[in-house]
Amino acid sequence: MTIAFLGLGSNLDSPLNQLVNAVQAIDAIPSTSLIQTSSFYKNRPVGPQDQPDFLNAVASIDTALSPDGLLDYLQDIEVQQGRKRNIHWGARTLDLDILLFGSEIINSTRLVIPHPEMHKRAFVLKPLYEIAPDLVIPGQGPLKNLVRYINTDGMQKISH
Ligand code: ATP
Ligand code: CA
Ligand code: CA
Repeated sequence: MTIAFLGLGSNLDSPLNQLVNAVQAIDAIPSTSLIQTSSFYKNRPVGPQDQPDFLNAVASIDTALSPDGLLDYLQDIEVQQGRKRNIHWGARTLDLDILLFGSEIINSTRLVIPHPEMHKRAFVLKPLYEIAPDLVIPGQGPLKNLVRYINTDGMQKISH
């Protein structure tokens, strides 16, 4: 079994419902159990600005799947929840990223782990710190050092 961390995001079709449904769907993935979910945070979009704010969260899971097997299930959930692949970093009903997979470093055509942008993104680091403050990110060092310097202006914690 491996502990993995997932990033969740939505800015279309009731983002709060999208994330709540996604958490349930993640817990239902075979050979996988949900450990913990962070608070949900409202964020300005990355990339194109002419789109609604995002709701983001992170979740930790315990899984016996391979990284590729896990990605297959996550992409199924995205499609199940109406994800259409179009504009890069554009609006979407659901985005599920694998942030970390144990301490593995992966660079395949389909998967880059740790997620290559995670250490720069407040909407990932802040919720991650909430559920795993002692985490060390391969290649980046302790999470607690990264969160010290991130800009969380405009980030809003949503109670749910
Ligand atoms: P970003 O990765 O910068 O957050 P994005 O989430 O909008 O951008 P997508 O369009 O959702 O990008 O994904 C494009 C491809 O990224 C996927 O088809 C997948 O193969 C690949 N990918 C590479 N590394 C990962 C990862 N760690 N988690 C999820 N997908 C990944
Ligand atoms: Ca993403
Ligand atoms: Ca993605």
